[in-house]
Amino acid sequence: MKKEVNCGEFLESLSDYVDGILGDALCKEIENHMADCEDCRIVVDTLKKTIYLYHETASKTTIPLGVRERLFRSLDLDDFIQKGNLLENDVTF
Ligand SMILES: [Zn+2]
Repeated sequence: MKKEVNCGEFLESLSDYVDGILGDALCKEIENHMADCEDCRIVVDTLKKTIYLYHETASKTTIPLGVRERLFRSLDLDDFIQKGNLLENDVTF
């Protein structure tokens, strides 16, 4: 009997997944789920970009949004900002 990951389990394991500390088997289940579930794909995609931006700016924390926006642009992240509207997006988990 094959164990299917549902969206709830998926979201529970998600932070471990993006941190890369999830076991191989569970990683595969999550990737299988993502292949079938567009919602979760979008969540992972957004989360990865958010984490990336967070790390990019971690040493310069608590700067105002406008400043951060300019910083992202100077870091050549226009692509992320325009495509994903990351700064405006509500990420709900
Ligand atoms: Zn899902």
